[in-house]
This record gives sequence, C-alpha cells and structure tokens, in this order.
Amino acid sequence: MTCDVAVIGAGAAGIAAARLLAAHGKRVVVLEAGARLGGRAFTDAAGVDHGASWLHDAAVNPLTPLAQALGFTVHDQGERRKLGLHVAGRPASAEERGDYLRAIEAAEAAFEAAVAAGGADRDCVGLVPAGPWRDSVAHWLGSIINGAALSGISLRDYVAIDLHGLNWQLAEGLGTLVARLGAGLDVRLATPVRRVLWGGADVALETPAGTLRAGAVLVTVSTGVLAGEGLRFTPALPVEIQAAVQGLPLGLLSKLALRLVPGVLELPAFGRLERQAESATDAPVNFMLRPFGRDQVVAFFGGALAWDLAKAGPAAAAAHCRAELARFWGAEAVARGVAPGGVATRWGTDPLFGGAYTHARPGAAGARAVLREAALAGGRLRFAGEACHPTHAATLGGAWASGEAAARAMLGLA
Ligand SMILES: Cc1cc2nc3c(=O)[nH]c(=O)nc-3n(C[C@H](O)[C@H](O)[C@H](O)COP(=O)(O)OP(=O)(O)OC[C@H]3O[C@@H](n4cnc5c(N)ncnc54)[C@H](O)[C@@H]3O)c2cc1C
Repeated sequence: MTCDVAVIGAGAAGIAAARLLAAHGKRVVVLEAGARLGGRAFTDAAGVDHGASWLHDAAVNPLTPLAQALGFTVHDQGERRKLGLHVAGRPASAEERGDYLRAIEAAEAAFEAAVAAGGADRDCVGLVPAGPWRDSVAHWLGSIINGAALSGISLRDYVAIDLHGLNWQLAEGLGTLVARLGAGLDVRLATPVRRVLWGGADVALETPAGTLRAGAVLVTVSTGVLAGEGLRFTPALPVEIQAAVQGLPLGLLSKLALRLVPGVLELPAFGRLERQAESATDAPVNFMLRPFGRDQVVAFFGGALAWDLAKAGPAAAAAHCRAELARFWGAEAVARGVAPGGVATRWGTDPLFGGAYTHARPGAAGARAVLREAALAGGRLRFAGEACHPTHAATLGGAWASGEAAARAMLGLA
C-alpha cells in the first residue's frame, strides 16, 4: 500500500491538511486510531459537544465560512459577560459582575505589560492583581480556560495566544462539522499507527492492518500521545522535538452533561452559572444551561479537579456537579429537576488524547514554533495540530489552520 502523503490522525488538523493535499492532486491516506472522525471535536447523539463547542474568534476562524456554507445553525454567544455569576450564594449585582470582568482585564493587562517589559519567561499566577476577585480570576484563566493552574503556564505563550471577539456555537455541533468536512477523504478508521520509520527514502507506518509506505507523513496526534508510548519513531525524534513535546503538556477541561426533568425548573436557554471562588484552592464548576433550548445542563470543570474526577469516574463527577448545582438552587430542586446520571467526557483517560488541549510550561514559549517548523528528513516528516498554532493554539480553528499550513509547506506553497 503506498500513497504520496500519509496523515496520522483524523482530527481537525489532519482533515484540513488532507483536504488541501487532495485538492492539489496528492494521493492522501489518513490513518485514524479511533472509530470516528473529528478527534477532540465530537458531538454525541444528544447533541452534546464533548470537546470543542465554541468557534472562538468566529470572525477570523477558518471553520466559520465552512460551517456557513454547510448551512449550520449558529448561536452567537458574543463576549463572555458573566451573567450567571453568584457571590456567597446569591446572584451577583451588576457592579460585582463589572468588578469581576475588570479584574480579568487587569490580570491580562498585567500579563501583557510583563511580556512587553522583557526578561525571562515565567508563570502567570503571581501577576494576577490582588483583591476580592483574584482567586476567581486565577481559576477562570487557569483551570477553566487552560485546563491547568496558572502557576504551570508560560506567560509569553499565554500572551501570544490571542482569542477575542465572537464565540459561536453550532446547533448541529462542532464535532458534526469536522466529521462532515472529512467526508470523501480516504480515512482508515480503527487503524492506529504504532511506529513511524522515517530514516529511509520514503516513510513507513506500521499499523495492525499492515505497513503503509508514503512519500511523506504529517503527524497530527496530540502532544499527550507524542509524549507517551502509543506512537514510536525510528529513528527516535531529535531531542529538540522531544523537548518541545515535553514543553507543551495537555491540560484537562472536562464536561458532564446532565439531563433536566422537563418542566420542573424554569431555566433560560444558554443561561450560565458561575460562582466566586472562596479561596485559592476552591475550584468552582461552571455551568451552561439549556444550550439550544435543550433539557440539558452542561458542567465544565478543569485542572486538578478534572484530573481527580477523571480518575474517580463518572459517578463521582456527577455527585460533585450535583452538589455544586445545589449551591445555586438547593439540594431539593436539584433532586427534583435534574435526572440521575449524566454523560461524562473522557479526554483525560483516553490514550488517544491524554488531556484536552495544550498550554506551554514556563520557559517553553518557543516550543510551538519548534514543532510547527520541524521538517525532518528533508521535509518528509512534519507535525501539525492545535499545539503548533502561534496565536490560536488549543483551539479547533487553530488546529485546522495548522493542518492547512503544514499541507501548504508540503506542497511547497508556504
Ligand atoms: C473538553 C474540551 C473543550 C474544548 N473546547 C473548545 C472550544 O470551545 N473551542 C475550540 O476552538 N477548541 C476547543 N477545544 C480544543 C479543540 O477541540 C482541539 O484544539 C482540536 O480539536 C484539536 O485538533 P487536532 O487535530 O490538533 O487534534 P485531535 O483532535 O486530537 O486529532 C488527532 C487525532 O489523532 C488520533 N490518534 C491518536 N493516536 C493515534 C495513532 N497512534 N494513530 C492514528 N491516529 C491517532 C486521535 O484519535 C485523533 O482523532 C476543546 C477541547 C476539549 C477536549
């Protein structure tokens, strides 16, 4: 079996790259270990997006025009406004919501000023301004947005990632979108690549279904997979690539979709719930209520709490999220209005991912460029994926753009 380019992974980056390469006449085979297309974009039968659910920076997101062309239904969330914020068990006042937003802006301004002032890279946490919102800001920017504590996140990389503006959701789901965009490609599902042999005149990829020979290979698996044992390289990857992978760990954001008992609780579509953190170790869960008017509540929890609950299992996650909801509504309303169980995401325990999305460790702000620019064996081995994008890393749009950029480089168009 031979092809011009083998793509490892049928997530956003792999599909974007394969589409572009195929459009330029290349014979492309996509090898995907899992049973479906989309990778960290996955919409289940109930319409829940287990992975990506917002098209961030929708005005410049490369997936926006593709979703529009396919006629997907858009909900524009606009800017995050903290409308469901609670303080000490009661809804926050407009002034408190304003204070929280200003505290977030002050933290990001402090990050930007520190980078502009120069000096060595460092973590972000010490730069969050003191005040009543400090713990909430650190929790929001760290564990919720990045899936990791700010103490483990590179300041320079944080500032380089530049997400602003519109945040769109799609009724049909972002997983549905990415899978639809992969239609017509030669994707071999349930075909894990175990080893990439890249020392010869071509590249050989060992899979349980046999060995695929290709003129070149684009690797789009997560840095969690690259850091593990599931995919090996012969010869071993150069030390600078291995160091870049180690510098870009995956944080964890988990979701739990709870089903509402119809007609019991009156909740607004696309409502939000978030509470003020009560200490530096408090880890509030954030909730989205009734997305697209569905009888669902989706809980979001990140960082250390998410890793702990991933280990403890879905029942523990459900118990934790119900207890958090009870802080807003009372235990009796939760018992009546929220059906038992729930659907928990598995990004932290699934070996095909190893987490949710990357951040750079302090001191590793240059790691994304090392991966992005690697052109091993005369360009026959390259990398793409969310970890590689300079300004939209960790996002679906960034993964897509990274796949297209790698394909252009392989075509000599870059
Ligand atoms: C909970 C969560 C919430 C998120 N929210 C958002 C959001 O709202 N907005 C946003 O823009 N982004 C969000 N993201 C991030 C976004 O989903 C990812 O950045 C993006 O999907 C990554 O795409 P990728 O192609 O780089 O990697 P992946 O999607 O991980 O694709 C890599 C593929 O490689 C496959 N693979 C792994 N090992 C092998 C092997 N050995 N052989 C063959 N195939 C292999 C995997 O199965 C996978 O399909 C979220 C992610 C998560 C997990």
